[in-house]
Amino acid sequence: MSETEVLPPAALPGAGKTVGVLALQGGVAEHARMLESLGAHVVLVKSAEQLANLDALVLPGGESSTIDRLTRIFGLRQPLIETISGGLPTLGTCAGLIMLSTVIDDPAPGQQSLGVLDVSVGRNAFGSQVDSAQVHLPWLTPSGEEVVIDTAFIRAPIVTRAGEGVQVVAHHEGKIVGVRAGNIIGISFHPEVTGDTTVHEELLSLIR
Ligand code: GLN
Repeated sequence: MSETEVLPPAALPGAGKTVGVLALQGGVAEHARMLESLGAHVVLVKSAEQLANLDALVLPGGESSTIDRLTRIFGLRQPLIETISGGLPTLGTCAGLIMLSTVIDDPAPGQQSLGVLDVSVGRNAFGSQVDSAQVHLPWLTPSGEEVVIDTAFIRAPIVTRAGEGVQVVAHHEGKIVGVRAGNIIGISFHPEVTGDTTVHEELLSLIR
């Protein structure tokens, strides 16, 4: 959608939809703002009870080892696994992708992931914070069309193995940085930082 196009609220892709953003640590506000701009009602999820009655969920970027630790402290680990495995449309960005994965190649000491998306991930694959970059990235839509996303890479992970049933939908510098599997979308990068709504609109389109 172009930035100048103003749709009436009822016509926005998120109208009437409730989307949770896991709000333990990381880039929560940027996702909430983007989802609200698409017309969705946003719930900042800090407890298991708040996972009920969501139409979709976003796991934001941040520090995956911290988010992991907090999900366990807040009693969210098992409820998240059950809710996402149960089919809730879910988008994981960056640390959120690491959280979704089955295998972290280089975990922090004691770090666990949710194991709901059959991929292996390598952390910080494009370097440190100072190597952050804004990138125009080809993205394969569910209808098989290639569009270009304006996005940011910030200490981004890569997918080093995509399991059966996991579709690869984006590459950067020859590495896998976007995947889709059923109700789950996992991306290494941050469209919520640059304001490109392509992936968030795709998440909303998964809601039945
Ligand atoms: N490298 C971070 C991690 O391992 C992720 C960075 C991000 O989410 N922007 O959690």
